[in-house]
Amino acid sequence: MPEPIYLDHAATTPVRPEVVEAMLPYFGSRFGNPSSIYGLGREARQAMDRARDTVAAALHCRPAEVLFTSCGSESDNLAIKGVAYALRDRGNHIVTTQVEHHAVLHTCEWLERYAGCEVTYLPVDQYGTVDLAALEAALTDRTVLVSVMLANNEVGTIQPLPAIAELLRPRGILFHTDAVQGGGALDLDVNRLGVDLLSLSGHKFYAPKGVGILYVRQGTPLLPQMQGGGQERNRRAGTENVPYIVGAATALQLATEELDATNTRVARLRDRLIEGVLERIPGAHLTGHPTERLANNASFVFEGVEGEALLLALDQLGICASTGSACTSGSLEASHVLKAMGLPTGLAQGSLRLSLGKGTDADQIDRTLEALPAVVERLRAVMPVR
Ligand code: PLP
Repeated sequence: MPEPIYLDHAATTPVRPEVVEAMLPYFGSRFGNPSSIYGLGREARQAMDRARDTVAAALHCRPAEVLFTSCGSESDNLAIKGVAYALRDRGNHIVTTQVEHHAVLHTCEWLERYAGCEVTYLPVDQYGTVDLAALEAALTDRTVLVSVMLANNEVGTIQPLPAIAELLRPRGILFHTDAVQGGGALDLDVNRLGVDLLSLSGHKFYAPKGVGILYVRQGTPLLPQMQGGGQERNRRAGTENVPYIVGAATALQLATEELDATNTRVARLRDRLIEGVLERIPGAHLTGHPTERLANNASFVFEGVEGEALLLALDQLGICASTGSACTSGSLEASHVLKAMGLPTGLAQGSLRLSLGKGTDADQIDRTLEALPAVVERLRAVMPVR
């Protein structure tokens, strides 16, 4: 059996050897608690300080504006709940989009249910791009926060964050972005993007699962969501995960240095994949924006095919793919993202996301292009879907 073809980098990535190397000492001889005052503790604190400097350089912000968390979901929760609670007296209205990851959507729903917030879920167009006029129309004098993702995890569409920021700045409304899919893939300059809060997750850019980053612009009101020690300048209690923090910073630095070269190489392979699929498979459609999309995202819907069946058939051939979001995998419900983009439910159920990465090469793309048409044809014959 040949090596599996891993085309699910939007779900997670392997940890880079350089990252493992950088982390190892902090599992071993340098195991100290950064809050301890003796040498071992100071060594751990210095490693964390260096990591914070490195992340700040990648985001073009101050080190004190960088917080380490346990994952992208925690960063999203802390950003949205933290601002909503801190600004409760000023307003209770939050604006987000219908195509956010559940880490944002479910957080907003929770705030509606348990904290008296009102949330507007903005529509998107056929490509998954948020409607700026609808966003502007939704803003009220009770709006305290807008949360719009940088790039969509299912279809790869990149949102026009700088244009959104221009609408919000004069009104003094805070701006959060879930940039988890943009980590290591897009320019994360927080000033160019115009955001006040930005979430990242290490495992999307070749660091381990279980470490997240939250950028919080200086002066942004944020009520901590976890009570305990005074770590992270009293914004996130809990002894810091020093090895993973070192790993996340190392991975982000490497990804930032390699960004242009990686994107150029990966986009070429992605385009070869997209063209091949659309050419060889009748009833195949690209989902997401044709140009404003992540360099590694090739996502489709196939007429007359059920996405889960497609995944299982591809798995038997050693190809790792996804229907779109890890959360909808395992359930036959059509993705909320594709529904918001206006795809009919039947078609939305035939989704396939192929996401490329550092390890993807032309041979893997060609083998996928050889296998996929026959799989789709066979499934259409044995289990047709309307
Ligand atoms: N936001 C987006 C856009 C994601 O794609 C993901 C993970 O897939 C998350 C948030 C959650 O990140 P984590 O798995 O680190 O909690």
